[in-house]
Amino acid sequence: MKPAVFDHASPAELNDALALLAQPGAKPLSGGQSLSPMMNLRLVRPATLVDLKRLPGLRGVMATAEHIRFGAATTHAEIEDGVVPDPTNGLMPHVAHGIAYRAVRNRGTLGGSLAHADPAADWPSVMAALGATILTSQSRRIPAERFILAPFTTALQPGEIILAVEVPRLPPGARWGYCKINRKIGEFAKAIGIAIETPRRLLAGAVEGPPVLLDRAEDTATRLPQLDAAAQRLAGIAVRRALAMMEA
Ligand SMILES: Cc1cc2nc3c(=O)[nH]c(=O)nc-3n(C[C@H](O)[C@H](O)[C@H](O)COP(=O)(O)OP(=O)(O)OC[C@H]3O[C@@H](n4cnc5c(N)ncnc54)[C@H](O)[C@@H]3O)c2cc1C
Repeated sequence: MKPAVFDHASPAELNDALALLAQPGAKPLSGGQSLSPMMNLRLVRPATLVDLKRLPGLRGVMATAEHIRFGAATTHAEIEDGVVPDPTNGLMPHVAHGIAYRAVRNRGTLGGSLAHADPAADWPSVMAALGATILTSQSRRIPAERFILAPFTTALQPGEIILAVEVPRLPPGARWGYCKINRKIGEFAKAIGIAIETPRRLLAGAVEGPPVLLDRAEDTATRLPQLDAAAQRLAGIAVRRALAMMEA
């Protein structure tokens, strides 16, 4: 199917983009890798797409001693290829490499993935596990672990966009484990387990809702009531494998 008729605007300044997004029926566009299929299926019918890709404020990175701030329009491929710095001792490039296939990674963005809030996507879980902070156009700083409220629902207000994501630096040598269980390499996850050594974090993702931080791997049996028994077992396997990878 083809999308319903829409207008396309490509503002060069953030203020112009926000003014356009304040209009009824306007929707932000980043890589289009989730939005375009949804428009083709007519699950969404925006009147105007406001293209964020040209906005200088959403591109590039800023590094401090404590963190790296990634512009929301940073692509999966830029993270995979090390075009942008990695504050996570290899975790972020590893995750980026496992997202879809290269054509999707060339266009899909960190900000678009978080805003889309698919529970089975990689970045919502990874950013929550890393204790990242999401910076928005309303000058809000939202902890990634509280950003996703429900499947495809975030803490963003209407007209508010993600400008950047601040990822704390892991200490040098801090280990991590990432286990994405899916049917084929590059597909969305059936279960995600993430273990980070320092600061100690354990997380179950792709759990049909926001990712869940855990104290122990065994907590997957009690902390994921929304999942059926088989999916709970899969979540437990993913978390234990992530722990084993971290400790190997
Ligand atoms: C075949 C295929 C396989 C895939 N496999 C995976 C996978 O294994 N793992 C995975 O994590 N993802 C996967 N994806 C999704 C991919 O990572 C998308 O790139 C990502 O989900 C959306 O990013 P985008 O930049 O394309 O956003 P878009 O599609 O442009 O936008 C997505 C949504 O976010 C909104 N939005 C975009 N940018 C912003 C912003 N800055 N602020 C506020 N709202 C914004 C849009 O309005 C829209 O609602 C796959 C996609 C495809 C097509």
